[in-house]
Amino acid sequence: VSNHDHHQLMHITHVTAEMAPIAKVGGLGDVVTGLARASLSCGHTVDIMLPFYECIPRHQITDLALITTFNSYHDGVWIPTEAYRGLVSSIPVIFIQPSNHFFKGKHVYGGSYNELDAYVFFSRACLEWMQVTGTQPDIIHVHEWQTSVLPLLYWDMYHNLSLKKPRIVLSIHNMEHFGECSEQQLSKSGLNGSLYATIDKAVDERTIGHNPERLSLLKGGIVYSNAVVTVSPTYLKETMCSGWLSSTLVSNRHKYVGILNGIDTAIWNPALDIFLPAKFHAKNLEGKKLCKYFVQRGLGLASSDSALDMQTKVPLVVCITRLVAQKGLHLIIHAMKRVEQLGGKMIILGKAPDGNIQREFEGLANLHNEGPSIRILLMYSEELSHMLYAAADMVFVPSMYEPCGLAQMIGMRYGAVPVVRKTGGLADTVFDMDDPQNQEKANGFVFEGIDETSLDGALYRAFSYFKDNPNKWNNIVKKIMEIDNSWNNTAGKYIELYSSIKANVN
Ligand code: ADP
Repeated sequence: VSNHDHHQLMHITHVTAEMAPIAKVGGLGDVVTGLARASLSCGHTVDIMLPFYECIPRHQITDLALITTFNSYHDGVWIPTEAYRGLVSSIPVIFIQPSNHFFKGKHVYGGSYNELDAYVFFSRACLEWMQVTGTQPDIIHVHEWQTSVLPLLYWDMYHNLSLKKPRIVLSIHNMEHFGECSEQQLSKSGLNGSLYATIDKAVDERTIGHNPERLSLLKGGIVYSNAVVTVSPTYLKETMCSGWLSSTLVSNRHKYVGILNGIDTAIWNPALDIFLPAKFHAKNLEGKKLCKYFVQRGLGLASSDSALDMQTKVPLVVCITRLVAQKGLHLIIHAMKRVEQLGGKMIILGKAPDGNIQREFEGLANLHNEGPSIRILLMYSEELSHMLYAAADMVFVPSMYEPCGLAQMIGMRYGAVPVVRKTGGLADTVFDMDDPQNQEKANGFVFEGIDETSLDGALYRAFSYFKDNPNKWNNIVKKIMEIDNSWNNTAGKYIELYSSIKANVN
């Protein structure tokens, strides 16, 4: 029996710029799909409103149909707009397609249209569609800066018209982007932008004194939503302590909560994973040994020792990540050297959006990829990532900051012991083996500093456990594989939040 059976069933509509797998750029897409699926399976009515990006592969949508033709306001004109309905990975989606140039191009982001204009238009078009069709969900769940203007439009415009029932939740997945805009740009939504240029509404506090014109859609969204969520309890605390939005978050703390993301266990399950050469589960790890041998042999990392020997003596560390500053690049580079010195092997799978970082890692790849211990694979590969998590003895996540982090959760499910920096969601999911206070939860190795010495300590301890005490190591592996970091475990917290703010009208 789930713990939210006593709640009434609700209608929840996500309004989002991303959805996995058809319009996914990062974690946002995964979270929307995973949370929607989990809420659906609890019996709630859930749909996702998404821009109908030109780049969306139409064949991945089932039962696609035009449902509404309407006009939506933008910058003084009413733009003819179409709404389509379809199913994506069994989840109902409503696609909004304006007749202008918005959302055209090869990618989700970076088209030749103005993104701020396009998302402000999209946010209003979703409300306009609800009004035109008389659709009143209990909860409208908006995400990131892109849809943060919706709460303003809802409370100051549509709620005064015919939409009465919805309440608004805003999820912040990464505080780095905050939807900077001017009064004029905000006015394109049909609101009077100058009314929001106050400290208690949307003005960007960093610019007081020099440019009172700068507004932040994310800040406005925080002020105007009924509840604000970020993706882990520790990131919640961090965001209230530093960063320019901290004072806004502190003054809204009564409605600000941290809820961990989950992993989609339909995709991440070592017992059924189609990408693995051998499947395995906590009660039988033979398949994991085969995965490790298979991956190492494939990449030329297998030594002349017998396969079995290698399993127990030489640990394999993997690091799968976007190669950006947030992810602790200097520590990733340092770890290669240290892992080799400690007698281990390391594989990095990553892609660098920045040309300089890409070139730096290409240099390192040329240096190491012919050697006996390190492989650097500079690409994005879903398939390889599954194999590497399965092969790994340790998964390495040294982020400078990490709102939630999925790599450590996926790694654990595949029996890779996490070695992580204590920050954000990593601090909420990984607990040090040598912390006497927390033996019950102990499941990995944690370091605090951003310097190399802190990392060295954690790596050294992990290697000692691995080499000196294989039985104990096996027990950790079994334990981490059975930790439930799935949406089944965490979606209930969202459902509780929804029902706590839901209006009591029909
Ligand atoms: P972020 O959202 O900041 O990128 P997360 O840890 O929340 O970080 O999510 C990263 C996800 O992307 C994980 O599922 C990870 O396995 C995957 N990933 C990152 N880089 C690659 C890559 N080069 N190839 C395949 N998967 C990757």
